[in-house]
Amino acid sequence: MTTTVPITSKLPDIGVSIFAVQTRLANEHKAINLSQGFPDFDCDPALVDAVAKAMRDGHNQYAPMPGVLALREGIAAKVEHLYGPTLDPMTEVVVTSGATAGLFATLTTFVQPGDEVVLFEPCYDSYVPVIRLSGGTPVFISLRYPDYSVNWDEVRRAITPRTRAILVNTPHNPTGTTWSADDMRQLASIVDGTNIILIGDEVYEHIIFDGRRHESLLRYPELRDRAVVISSFGKTFHTTGWKVGYCVGPQPLIAEVIRVHQFMTFTVHTPSQIAFAEFVKKDPAATALTPFYQKKRDLFLQLTAGSRFRPLPCGGTYFQLFDYSAISNEKDKEIAHRLIVEHRVASIPVSAFLYKDGGGPVLRFCFAKKDETLRAAAERLVKI
Ligand code: PMP
Ligand code: GLN
Repeated sequence: MTTTVPITSKLPDIGVSIFAVQTRLANEHKAINLSQGFPDFDCDPALVDAVAKAMRDGHNQYAPMPGVLALREGIAAKVEHLYGPTLDPMTEVVVTSGATAGLFATLTTFVQPGDEVVLFEPCYDSYVPVIRLSGGTPVFISLRYPDYSVNWDEVRRAITPRTRAILVNTPHNPTGTTWSADDMRQLASIVDGTNIILIGDEVYEHIIFDGRRHESLLRYPELRDRAVVISSFGKTFHTTGWKVGYCVGPQPLIAEVIRVHQFMTFTVHTPSQIAFAEFVKKDPAATALTPFYQKKRDLFLQLTAGSRFRPLPCGGTYFQLFDYSAISNEKDKEIAHRLIVEHRVASIPVSAFLYKDGGGPVLRFCFAKKDETLRAAAERLVKI
């Protein structure tokens, strides 16, 4: 169909998400899909049973608008257990349709036209469109290739009277870096005495390797009193398709996020929330997840060790970056395309997460895959 109505796009320069593009191309060419971040193995069958039971027990209508109370209580208990603060589950937790909706609600809540939001690039693809839709201006700090560390002096220089928020993502997608306690101290010294809000995308909080500690904004009183922290059960329970996440923070901030949330989705899939409530209470720290993914990372590194792809350090998330400069001087989008078409392995070009800088010669591979998938992919990668 067509239309005679003139349309003014609100996001004229934003194309189809790189995840949709690469997954479609991977399927078209029957490539092994290590591009979009999702497991190719199933979640715990007991979790599926718990959702089915909730459905059979008749929990098939709207949940309370901010979320099933048992789940909000579970989230509050988990946060206290892991990071220290005591949250009021009635007013300081809201369950959202994945972290994506949590980020959307939080950014649209706080970003007003003319506001600036400081971001660290490469950055996850949903942040910038939402900031722009809210009339805000993204201010990019380039993480320093190849270790993707933060130049804190650059952050200091980027702060202006218009800075409304700083968006922090640790463990970091796509680079797999994690922030240290020193990074948190630097951040605290920058926001001290300002009105800057912190937005923490901590969806990979339980996927952190080699004995590192997840440095949540919630650990630090001087950070959490101005922070909304967002997480996702999709990553923690291998259920990316269920789209359940949450935001937590001080009551005055969450009250405003809830104002927006109630007109985005109003409330989230009830049976899934009931099931997650049970599972979060049972094991708030998701203890098995870190060793599970660390083994996968190590296997993938071992399998690709003989290739010309050079791995960059991965301290968390389920993404591994590889430098491909020993193979080609193509642009990352070109080589990523060629890898799918000629070698039938799909990855993500890291430049898709960049706005200001060109970045390094790096591709992102997702290792949230069955061992046999990783083996089959590595067999192809070592031949390139
Ligand atoms: N933030 C980051 C850094 C992510 O990697 C993702 C998804 N992979 C999200 C947010 C969105 O999470 P969800 O699928 O729960 O919406
Ligand atoms: N977060 C996932 C990734 O980084 C994908 C999410 C999506 O498809 N929007 O690959």
